[in-house]
Amino acid sequence: MKHKGLSGKPLTSNIPYGYKKAIDEKGNTLWVVDDETAPIVREIFRLYVDEHLSFIEIARNISGKGIIIPNVRKGRKVSGEADVWNDQTVKNILSNQVYCGDTVNFKTEKISFKDQRRINHNPSEWKIFEDTHQAIISRELFEQVKKLFSEHRKNRTFGLQNPLRYFLFCFDCNSRMYARRFQDEDKNVYVCHKNCTSHPRQCSSHSVREKYLYDLLIEKLNKLIEIKNNDPQKFRELIYAERLNNTQNLTDRSSRRLLEIDSEIDILQNRIKKIYIEKENGELSYPVFSALAEQFAKDIETLKYERIEITRKLNEIKKSNDNLKIFLLSIDKFDKIYYNDLNEVFLSKILEKILVEERTVKYSRVPPIVHIHFLGIGEISFI
Ligand SMILES: [Zn+2]
Repeated sequence: MKHKGLSGKPLTSNIPYGYKKAIDEKGNTLWVVDDETAPIVREIFRLYVDEHLSFIEIARNISGKGIIIPNVRKGRKVSGEADVWNDQTVKNILSNQVYCGDTVNFKTEKISFKDQRRINHNPSEWKIFEDTHQAIISRELFEQVKKLFSEHRKNRTFGLQNPLRYFLFCFDCNSRMYARRFQDEDKNVYVCHKNCTSHPRQCSSHSVREKYLYDLLIEKLNKLIEIKNNDPQKFRELIYAERLNNTQNLTDRSSRRLLEIDSEIDILQNRIKKIYIEKENGELSYPVFSALAEQFAKDIETLKYERIEITRKLNEIKKSNDNLKIFLLSIDKFDKIYYNDLNEVFLSKILEKILVEERTVKYSRVPPIVHIHFLGIGEISFI
């Protein structure tokens, strides 16, 4: 076995998806390109490199079209539909060097003759033999995919570590959400801070998968961009209407209250003047005057505080006009948004906050309700 592997002959009896077995004139077994499945392999590489689709998006793209998944073709039993692909299968195909014509041996090894379980070897222990069979994709394309893989990983783990965390809040207690990270990054979740070890049981977990949040955000942004590209004028009208709708009530109520406060302060100041005159005329004793005047002054003070608070809120709404411009400018640069575009800087120009509700059914696999508040707009109801 070892000798065979070192000679560059494939050790696996599993023919990779995209190939089929053939026998040459000397009776040797060969892998040749399978015209039925090789185009699917090429399509998967194309969708990843040219269309920038994620593994799951590629899987969705080719599912349900009668394209039988590799496991079923190999005669294995699967629980789901035979033509429903998953992200792992897509990832396996994209990372298999076999498709550029190479044989990679010693990727795994049986623990022993008695123990048939396999262990994974480090890539440094792999033995690679170039051009041992027909290629389905070019070597350049495979290298490009390898580079994209490492960029993708770097972006997710080092360069832009969990940029969503700045925007995530628990819907119920308003605490920040913290990332719980896993080896398999697609399993990363965010949970309410008040459910973390330092705050046991002050709030429920509100757990939400990071991957789900990204997918949701990308889906909503791309819907917006589609509307914008179809009719830029209509898009602006919709967005401004949405913003107005989100802020109108608050603005109206605040403006009305400001007028009320002014007239209440007027009334109180007039009362102070009146009791002063009454005191001067001897109609009111000094202790009574003093107590009343103190009370009125306190009431005026309280109203002035309220006025400052409301003015601050109204200014924030005015500022959100500038924020809306930042939002519109930021998404204007895109025809389509991809995972790698969602870095911290871009997110800070399009997001105000994301609120995560608790699931109504505990441990349900249905994702929780998520409220995305876009910068300068708030929630957008039409996407
Ligand atoms: Zn909470």
